[in-house]
Amino acid sequence: MKLTKRINQLSESMTIAISSLARDLKEEGKDVISFSAGEPDFGTPQVIKDAAIEALTLGKTTYTAIGGTNEVKQAIADKLKRENGLDYDPSDIIVSVGAKHSLFNIFQSLIEDGDEVIIPAPYWVTYPEQTKYSGGKVVDILTTDENGFKITPQQLKDAITPKSKILILTTPSNPTGSVYSKDELIALADVLKDTNITVVSDEMYEKLVYDGIKFTAVASISEDMFNRTITVNGLSKSVAMTGWRFGYIATPNKELVKAMTKLQGQSTSNINSITQHAAIVALNGSADQDVEMMRVEFEKRRDLACDLFNQIDGLSVIKPQGAFYLYVNIKNVEKDSMKFSQDLLQEVGVAVVPGVGFGLDGYFRFSFATDEATIKDGISRIKRFVESKK
Ligand code: PMP
Ligand code: GLU
Repeated sequence: MKLTKRINQLSESMTIAISSLARDLKEEGKDVISFSAGEPDFGTPQVIKDAAIEALTLGKTTYTAIGGTNEVKQAIADKLKRENGLDYDPSDIIVSVGAKHSLFNIFQSLIEDGDEVIIPAPYWVTYPEQTKYSGGKVVDILTTDENGFKITPQQLKDAITPKSKILILTTPSNPTGSVYSKDELIALADVLKDTNITVVSDEMYEKLVYDGIKFTAVASISEDMFNRTITVNGLSKSVAMTGWRFGYIATPNKELVKAMTKLQGQSTSNINSITQHAAIVALNGSADQDVEMMRVEFEKRRDLACDLFNQIDGLSVIKPQGAFYLYVNIKNVEKDSMKFSQDLLQEVGVAVVPGVGFGLDGYFRFSFATDEATIKDGISRIKRFVESKK
């Protein structure tokens, strides 16, 4: 049986691969602590679980409309209005099997062979793979800790060609935690205004922002940005619902919604009906107290982890304003992040994701979505490892 060229060219998700390896090693009884997982260590809030039980009791166990029930799409539209100041109609929304699936629908519906997708690096591992799988070409814009891992308007201008089709913005970012301010987004919007570029704004981590800053939705910048932006979001990170698989897209482009609904209708159909019913409670603010509790806890862990890393001679990290990742600079110790991460796992039993997987070597990603005692233990092992290299 011969596999297709396009599937052979697809790389495995490095974030999932390393999390699975760490889990296997632990199950074999090895002393391994993992900072590789991109998922909250909290359980789903009880009100949401109760709503899932209610869905079963009410018999909400049948197929629904492909892109989600009217109720859940209305709940998303209400959320986008209330929290982000965005006016979407429920018919502008489509619900998918996690935001990863939402992105897949977008790429498959919009990218033709040779179309260019501009991706700020370091990036979340899935964007370049989905781009290539759709026949597109990745154009990355490199950022480093020196510019806060954010692209500048000039960098964006330089990356644009007649073939540019999509710009991906992820704020707050996975893997760096950087957050674009409203002014920074306005400046990027200014570069886009005379182009046909569609912005895919991945806002998965919008609820996880720190230092009292306010999250700005990309589509809220201007009417022009509203019209060119596809807003992508979900419930995995904001309300600790990774396993439920709920992602969504909002776009005023009716033709695109229709296309993605057609694709979904021939692939997955609707996402599971129980998750849809429970999601309404997650979207309508009923779990806000739990969300805030998690946010406060993540902020404390971020402070702790940053302080501990910056005490290690040879490593450095900038304090991110969002998400639950640190992107730690290891260039003074080892430029090859894959080697660093493999040796770290082997020698002191700590799993992190090498920066090379995110398109910027010389760093590793450390997820602080784990308890303080584990963070302290892990970073002291990393310290021991780094000191042994001198
Ligand atoms: N976008 C970003 C930036 C992510 O980090 C993730 C997963 N960690 C996703 C999208 C996809 O999330 P899900 O498929 O669980 O909704
Ligand atoms: N996105 C999360 C991460 O970056 C989960 C794994 C994945 O979907 O790639 O670790």
